[in-house]
Amino acid sequence: MPTDYDGTEYPEAESSAGVVGIPDGFQRLWTPHRIAYIEQGGMSPGDDCVFCTAPTLTDEQALIAHRGELAYVILNLFPYNSGHLLVVPYRHIATYDNATPEEVAEIGALTQTAMRVLTQTARADGFNLGMNQGAIAGAGIAAHLHQHVVPRWATDSNFFPIVARTKAIPRLLGEVRDEIAAAWPQ
Ligand SMILES: [Zn+2]
Repeated sequence: MPTDYDGTEYPEAESSAGVVGIPDGFQRLWTPHRIAYIEQGGMSPGDDCVFCTAPTLTDEQALIAHRGELAYVILNLFPYNSGHLLVVPYRHIATYDNATPEEVAEIGALTQTAMRVLTQTARADGFNLGMNQGAIAGAGIAAHLHQHVVPRWATDSNFFPIVARTKAIPRLLGEVRDEIAAAWPQ
């Protein structure tokens, strides 16, 4: 059985048809009353690497907010918070020490820009940044490096994660993607 970041075991997540994301132990309570799941034609669960497949889709299908030269920025399908982004190199490498200096530089620059965009669009008060290196360290998709950029607000904690293992995500992913993509400096 897979385990959460804190070691808690949880049942295998329902298939998300190969879309990008990191399953965890939380149920999502989508507070808007419609689910804007993105149609993902031509992918099956377990096919290929989702971080390699995402760039082959349209930005809207894959929830890509920005494409750089060596790395891209994508919304996490299983967000901890609205605006939870992943900065991902196009190249299929597992760990940070496998990244070239150019990839390290671009991942860093995209992370900085992501913070600025989220500060502007989502008025984030702070961020959690990080890379889980290897499944043992909590990487949901351990084979393909990705940096988490998680916006935080002073008021973002509530009782749901504690009592119901449910996170309230107040905004739809497609809507957040559109906003971030529009605000991304060209
Ligand atoms: Zn990959």
